[in-house]
Amino acid sequence: MRTIHHWIAGAPYEGGTEAATPVHDPATGEVSGRLARADAAVVDEAVRTAAAAQREWGATSLARRTEIMFRMRELVVRHTDDLARLVTAEHGKTLDDARGEVGRGRETLDFACGINQASKGEYTADASTGVDVHSLRQPLGVVAGITPFNFPVMVPMWMHPIAIATGNAFILKPSERDPSAANLVAELYREAGLPDGVFSVVHGDKAAVDAILDHPGIAAVSFVGSTPVARYVRERGAARGKRVQALGGANNHAIVMPDGDIEYAAAQIASGAFGSAGERCMAVPAAVAVGEAGDLLVAALRREAEQIVVGPGDRDGVAMGPVITAEARERVIRYATEAIEAGAEPVVDGRGLTVEGHEQGYFVGPTVLDRVSLDAGAYREEVFGPLLTVVRTDTFEEALALVNSSPYGNGAAIFTASGEYARRFTHEVQAGMVGVNVPIPTPVAYYSFGGWKDSLFGEHHAHGPEGVRFYTRNKVVTSRWPHVDRPVQASMSFPSTTD
Ligand code: NAD
Repeated sequence: MRTIHHWIAGAPYEGGTEAATPVHDPATGEVSGRLARADAAVVDEAVRTAAAAQREWGATSLARRTEIMFRMRELVVRHTDDLARLVTAEHGKTLDDARGEVGRGRETLDFACGINQASKGEYTADASTGVDVHSLRQPLGVVAGITPFNFPVMVPMWMHPIAIATGNAFILKPSERDPSAANLVAELYREAGLPDGVFSVVHGDKAAVDAILDHPGIAAVSFVGSTPVARYVRERGAARGKRVQALGGANNHAIVMPDGDIEYAAAQIASGAFGSAGERCMAVPAAVAVGEAGDLLVAALRREAEQIVVGPGDRDGVAMGPVITAEARERVIRYATEAIEAGAEPVVDGRGLTVEGHEQGYFVGPTVLDRVSLDAGAYREEVFGPLLTVVRTDTFEEALALVNSSPYGNGAAIFTASGEYARRFTHEVQAGMVGVNVPIPTPVAYYSFGGWKDSLFGEHHAHGPEGVRFYTRNKVVTSRWPHVDRPVQASMSFPSTTD
């Protein structure tokens, strides 16, 4: 049985808790590997080597750093299929979807290749007589990323390219469910010429996370995962004086207005609800149909959902793979059953689906429920599976109020042909990422990614300009070079800039 080890000081590192965690293939239910689990001693070793490497790396020229980023970008392009295959084997999403994930992650490497421009400071000549002022952004030191199972390549890539390009050393604690891609990324960084210790991987679960949060040598933590853990990470990390950005869960809504192209809206919403088996933080699990849009939308959603081919992610023609674990499958089925018992109408029911030859796989089919009660867990909570609920309202105002009543505020979308409704929606909706006729409005890498309310704890969104700010500290330098011919008198009064 294959063991997946940590990666410290530029090489696989054996150590940590004896009892390894099994890693499963969700399409078969079989154990495909065993994952080493980091304890506090392993995390400490990673921090020690990272801190030593960072001292030199932080002083390395921007030209050299970006040269390595360009090489890393090319290596990721070349190894897209290798990364995608690892993702499909441990996550279950289709190969095509996994390739898309690698591509969207690579966009942050593209951004990091231009870090010399993105991290430039400011300069003011003659702020006062003979006084110049400039600002610069400096790295924090050793920083860590703790990431979820649903994007094992892309979400860590929101973090490490920017953290590293700005001069930090980065320690990644990936999800224990699909850990292998992180180790291939580590190998690629080594091949790209990144000095050993600047990128490390520690595997494990809560014990590894707590060791990261408590370690005094780690200056900042980026977390992405579920809301309860995000809140915990933010509070525990902040209590130990760290800079923490913690992105949490979501329950994204899409409003469908009767004035627009309902077929288009249904196709887009189905892709948002069932792509990656609904396991995206920018998935669309709730459609809000306004007025006459309702019946047309539900009929179109039925057609869309019924044509989705479910099976193992590496099989040609498959559009949707399994969910991540047997428990996740049970959770989706339970939410659907409870909603139906409370009066929801099953339009498409995927609860009983089995895939021939993969009877032990964690499959559940696309499920669409209409007229779902607003009290049903399937509507209110984050199900994180291929379950789409449809609720109906009479007016745009009611629909908007419903979206804004969610405790989450990650993404939200509207489908409409009306500029007026679109504009009102984008201005008034309480969410960090908004789509107009776009179901998954995931920002491109040169903008920043982040939600509002319980979808993000902290001041900074991920990647893009906010990523640069998160991984650097501002310093402002005020200088004067007095000339012997023009002596400057010291004053006991607070100096005025008009002097
Ligand atoms: P999760 O919260 O279970 O795990 C995330 C990370 O935290 C993993 O590395 C895990 O090992 C660790 N962890 C789990 N339980 C912990 C605990 N009790 N204490 C300390 N650490 C713990 O999330 P997941 O199931 O891997 O991922 C799915 C969740 O992530 C969904 O809620 C989804 O919405 C969210 N997500 C959010 C975004 C975003 O950008 N907002 C992006 C992707 C995923």
